[in-house]
Amino acid sequence: MAVSIVKTDRTADVRRAVELLGGMKKFVTGGEKVIIKPNICAAKDTFTGAVTDPEMVAEVCRMVAECGANPVVAESPIYPFKGSRVYQRAGYADFKSKYGFEFMDIDSADSREISIPRGRAIKASVVCDAVLNCDKLINMPVLKTHLQTVVTIGLKNLKGVVVGKQKHIIHLQGLHQGIVDLNTVVKSDLTIVDGIIGMEGTGGPTNGRPVKMDVIVAGDNVVEVDAVATRVMGGDPMKVEHIRLASEQGLGSLSGFEMVGDSLESVSARRDLPKTPGLNKILITDIGVRVMNLLRDPIMLLTGGERVVRKARLGELIIDEALCDGCRLCIPACPVDALAYGEQLDCDYKLCIQCFCCAEVCPRGALKKKF
Ligand code: SF4
Ligand code: SF4
Repeated sequence: MAVSIVKTDRTADVRRAVELLGGMKKFVTGGEKVIIKPNICAAKDTFTGAVTDPEMVAEVCRMVAECGANPVVAESPIYPFKGSRVYQRAGYADFKSKYGFEFMDIDSADSREISIPRGRAIKASVVCDAVLNCDKLINMPVLKTHLQTVVTIGLKNLKGVVVGKQKHIIHLQGLHQGIVDLNTVVKSDLTIVDGIIGMEGTGGPTNGRPVKMDVIVAGDNVVEVDAVATRVMGGDPMKVEHIRLASEQGLGSLSGFEMVGDSLESVSARRDLPKTPGLNKILITDIGVRVMNLLRDPIMLLTGGERVVRKARLGELIIDEALCDGCRLCIPACPVDALAYGEQLDCDYKLCIQCFCCAEVCPRGALKKKF
């Protein structure tokens, strides 16, 4: 089909983005169960650019209901966040009473293990039953950066259909390919990106800088939508590993499809995107850090002392002790138990797999990736 672009600062214009694709009736029919999956990853309001605007989600529910179908909004936030607090802060706690449509916390709903026959990194996952049983899935990410995957848009938003701590398996087996694997079994029928307030910077997906991007991007193919939305932020989808892999594995194209509505140029700007360091930079820094450690504390290093103080290398976790207030929320977020709190927060770098799940949940932005 096509990807539509609407330059706007009004959530109601999501209707125009879908009409440009032929209208909601092209995607859903009367009597169907339609799951709408926003991004409500953390206890943040829409002005932070971290979560999909509930007003836009409600408008999509109305469009689905007008087709005679039954919309249900469903989400599971970043583990170990509790849904109740997250949904309260993000404006979804009273979704049913305010807008009249069902809202489901995936972590409290029934789920089951599914196999992923085409999976290269993950062969199975535990996914919400309602998502597996629905007739149509409408994917509604927000347009933002991610310190590990550069951007998080439609493909990555589907990680939220995996229940609670089960999301850790994707990090343990390989995040980029794991995202693609999941998208081979959980398919988006329509993807609508809320880019009215997005996020840039290395603090994404929860602690980046909010930016008014004033755009909605929509389409029937999630890879094509992600490719266009990445370009809206001035990025190259070929350099975003999970988007490139999804395209190479036949889930969609990065170019050559029709675009309708406003021009890409009219909504694009060069945003501050996290970079992936080159191999040569990693090697040079590694050697440099080893030499620095040797000069700083040679006896402890040579005798295999317990604690060798060193700066984080490129790609590693940095703990900003000045910002950390000791809340310990990050500790259960770590899939390999690399974090512990004694007198202060410590990371066992030998265990750390650099997934940055801890940084995603830190409410104070005290955990960062070394770029
Ligand atoms: S790093 Fe962040 S999440 Fe972890 S204990 Fe400190 S403030 Fe809490
Ligand atoms: S400490 Fe390392 S492995 Fe654990 S969540 Fe943080 S980045 Fe991931």
